[in-house]
Amino acid sequence: MPVLVITGGARGIGRAVILGAAERGWDIAFSYVSNDAAAEATAEAALALGVRCEFLKGDVRDEAHLAALFDLGESLGPVTKCVVNAGIVGPVMPLAEMDAARIARVIDVNVTGALLTAREAARRMPVAKGGPGGSIVLLSSAAARLGGAFNFTEYAASKGAMDTLTRGLALELAPSVRVNAVRPGIIDTEIHADAGLADRARTQGPDQPLGRAGTAEETANAILWLLSDEASYVTGTHVDVAGGR
Ligand code: NAP
Repeated sequence: MPVLVITGGARGIGRAVILGAAERGWDIAFSYVSNDAAAEATAEAALALGVRCEFLKGDVRDEAHLAALFDLGESLGPVTKCVVNAGIVGPVMPLAEMDAARIARVIDVNVTGALLTAREAARRMPVAKGGPGGSIVLLSSAAARLGGAFNFTEYAASKGAMDTLTRGLALELAPSVRVNAVRPGIIDTEIHADAGLADRARTQGPDQPLGRAGTAEETANAILWLLSDEASYVTGTHVDVAGGR
């Protein structure tokens, strides 16, 4: 069975990817940083679908943790699918009001953490490195296009970095590993509470061209497609799952 490694799998989009992967019969190793109860619940839900699912608590900024996460995945079989998913936002404010610690934290988790995760995949997945080949999906954001003005410009910039990384890594890892990004719009998960906008999906959803926020499952569907062989000629590109935004 294919094995998926995904960061930030306990909740939100990561959890939806895990459950979609389990429905497809893929085995899973996922990480999370603090929410033990959510991690256990997600693993239980995946196990109930008849696949193997392991999880490891740790921070994507910690390269030893990431190596251990991939080791865990490889203990299930060759890792052919990887989702670079873990990401954070800070409370909404214009850039002029942000302190250096907040900017550093968002950039560290969203950019350095993603680079370290992608680097671990790049060391293990390519056929040229003795790996099985496969597909990597990075979580960017519509904010990378829109800029996040007055709310989270540093987050938007961190997601712009995902778009750029997608292009560069796709060229480095071709032809045996495909690399793509998904750019979600406003998706109904708990991440918005960290921005101080717990109701964002409900309050801003109606303003979207499709008239509502998206779901984690709708986002996962695009990620799962990019991970699958159905997307076998797709690499180095970005898929917007943003309801027309
Ligand atoms: P979420 O519901 O807040 O879940 C985030 C997950 O990442 C959690 O499982 C969390 O672990 C984990 N995580 C956070 N910091 C971590 C760290 N330092 N190391 C390891 N894991 C960490 O977020 P989401 O809405 O599903 O978002 C997933 C991705 O999609 C993010 O990259 C986000 O930027 C992107 N995105 C989301 C939206 C949206 O509207 N929701 C839009 C565009 C892009 P715990 O469960 O232990 O806290």
